[in-house]
Amino acid sequence: MESIEVVRRAVAAARRAGGTIGLVPTMGALHDGHLRLIERCRAESDLVVVSIFVNPTQFGPSEDLERYPRTLAEDCARCDAAGAEVIFAPQVATIYPHGTGSTFVEVPGLSDVLEGASRPGHFRGVATVVLKLFAIVGPDRAYFGQKDYQQQVLIRRMVADLHVPVAITTVPTVREPDGLALSSRNRYLNPAQRRAATVLARALERAGQAVVQGERIGNRVRQILRETIESEPLARLDYAEVADAETLAPLDELGPQRPAVALVAAWVGSTRLIDNRLLG
Ligand code: AMP
Repeated sequence: MESIEVVRRAVAAARRAGGTIGLVPTMGALHDGHLRLIERCRAESDLVVVSIFVNPTQFGPSEDLERYPRTLAEDCARCDAAGAEVIFAPQVATIYPHGTGSTFVEVPGLSDVLEGASRPGHFRGVATVVLKLFAIVGPDRAYFGQKDYQQQVLIRRMVADLHVPVAITTVPTVREPDGLALSSRNRYLNPAQRRAATVLARALERAGQAVVQGERIGNRVRQILRETIESEPLARLDYAEVADAETLAPLDELGPQRPAVALVAAWVGSTRLIDNRLLG
């Protein structure tokens, strides 16, 4: 459905029946990672709403907005099979009634580091569209993937700061058997690039093992990440960071009292890939 009114009617009916509402925001081109979110939402909610919206404001001017995969018919079939009752696939003008340059949400400190440093304006677009979806649907709970680690940290901060009554659940990253994190952008990779793309997961795995074996120095862990990714000729490192798992502040040292996360981004050909792993 494309209309806000129709979605709200379905949500209101579920509420009248005493049901809880779960929302899974996506940009479509659904894969098993998205399905895991929908299944978790299905298990915990009476009404499952999946939004499918390729949000123009989170793409930079030189990014892949135009060629981003759009597979709505298949997506709807997969949502149905996973038990989603409501598929909200709005037009851009529905979400941005006064244009994409109108009212926005910014989360300072979290929106300008890591992904935000490489993709200026990206998280303003993400935060704005997610708040709009929350306002349209009014879910009790919303589901995000750990795959986009910074995104779920930022959404958690946004709902806390703005007192938005939505509980955020983060679902672990779903991977291919060789470790590559599932992503709608993986379909851009040719076979050689697809093989090279596993270097992100390999780097994170090596870093994770180093920490398990006692490494505590942030820069040494960063070096493992960097060296592993730079050893792959088809990959070009964007960043490799070791950060506080809640604030994303870079860590000099890892300690038992401070959950840490390793985050990497790299180009493989013209495809930009990200991945992350909790440490310790
Ligand atoms: P997207 O369609 O890329 O905006 O992703 C929609 C949601 O699915 C986001 O919360 C992502 O973090 C999540 N997601 C994407 N890929 C994966 C994955 N491999 N495992 C778990 N969640 C994912």
